[in-house]
Amino acid sequence: MADNENTPPAIQPPPAKPLKPCAICGKPAQPRYKPFCSARCADIDLGRWLKGSYVIPGAPLELDENGPSSRERDDDA
Ligand SMILES: [Zn+2]
Repeated sequence: MADNENTPPAIQPPPAKPLKPCAICGKPAQPRYKPFCSARCADIDLGRWLKGSYVIPGAPLELDENGPSSRERDDDA
């Protein structure tokens, strides 16, 4: 144990960590929409996910509240 005088670190951390380029268009990503450059690119990526085999765990949310026959409460009580 005698070689800890001038042993430089194996890996020097980068001074600044730039954001990765947008995975969709390649533009610099914005912190607000990272890792994308805009909400549009984020939406495109989301669409790719949905087109794939990505399944949302949990119960699906019924967004059509104005459904014609979603819940007919005809309880003849
Ligand atoms: Zn983009």
